[in-house]
Amino acid sequence: MGYTGKCACGAVTLNIGAKPATTRQCWCRQCQTIAAGGPTHNAIFPAEAVAIEGTLGAASWTAASGNTLTFHFCASCGTQVYGQSSARPHLKTVRFGVLDQPHDLKPEVVIWTQDAPDWAQIDPALEQWPQQPPAPATPTAPAPATKD
Ligand SMILES: [Zn+2]
Ligand SMILES: [Zn+2]
Repeated sequence: MGYTGKCACGAVTLNIGAKPATTRQCWCRQCQTIAAGGPTHNAIFPAEAVAIEGTLGAASWTAASGNTLTFHFCASCGTQVYGQSSARPHLKTVRFGVLDQPHDLKPEVVIWTQDAPDWAQIDPALEQWPQQPPAPATPTAPAPATKD
């Protein structure tokens, strides 16, 4: 079971050979900035299961935790592809937007609800965290840090 995907222009493609450890909707300020004012929707995969072809750009910021968050995007069209934390190099946080439809993913957990705007519609049936929750457990052992 897996997923395929591509950016808006098609220069970056993904092939993912795993189910995600979890899926999240994130309302942190940085996500609102990169997602045009809404939350990001993310599927957290074992890093080694995510194969990406094409040229990515990257930019980083320091999170409140002190960890460095790096987001990777298509160098041609700017589509957000995935994010990664310096504390969790064995995970890749893939944006729902690049996954080919139809797929079976939907948000399971909502995070950084304290930063959501008043108008945000947050499903009360979903698990919610005001800030960052603990990292999800993954079925595979942590992989060595990769060069990306
Ligand atoms: Zn692109
Ligand atoms: Zn976020």
